[in-house]
Amino acid sequence: MDCLFCSIVKGDIPSTKVYEDETVYAFKDINPMAPVHVLIIPKVHISSINDVTAENSAVIAHIYEVAAKLAKELGIDESGFRVVSNCGADAGQTVFHLHFHILGGTKLKVEMC
Ligand code: 5GP
Ligand code: ZN
Repeated sequence: MDCLFCSIVKGDIPSTKVYEDETVYAFKDINPMAPVHVLIIPKVHISSINDVTAENSAVIAHIYEVAAKLAKELGIDESGFRVVSNCGADAGQTVFHLHFHILGGTKLKVEMC
């Protein structure tokens, strides 16, 4: 299967790693939309929220634990941040490997959050 983010997890495509453990990988977005823009992804391939099930949802809870930890480390836990996961065409999902955008470091626009 040809998946950009699976290739990033494997190290076949370089990325700026922010965090890694057994089930999760986090890295800087290549086209940051805010001063802090990190993507957190499961290492296992899940295409989008549409494919989250009782069997694989534990990694999603873990991603939110990692989000809290990274927000503290990146200094945006007090100022605030947004977690976004685009799902499908109307949301503008461009990479079909589930990912959570962590956006912060500035006052984020409220439109279409
Ligand atoms: P989506 O539009 O699917 O919600 O988000 C995909 C995100 O992946 C975009 O913010 C885009 O900038 C980022 N992205 C796409 N290709 C790469 C890449 O090769 N490396 C990194 N670090 N980010 C990427
Ligand atoms: Zn993948």
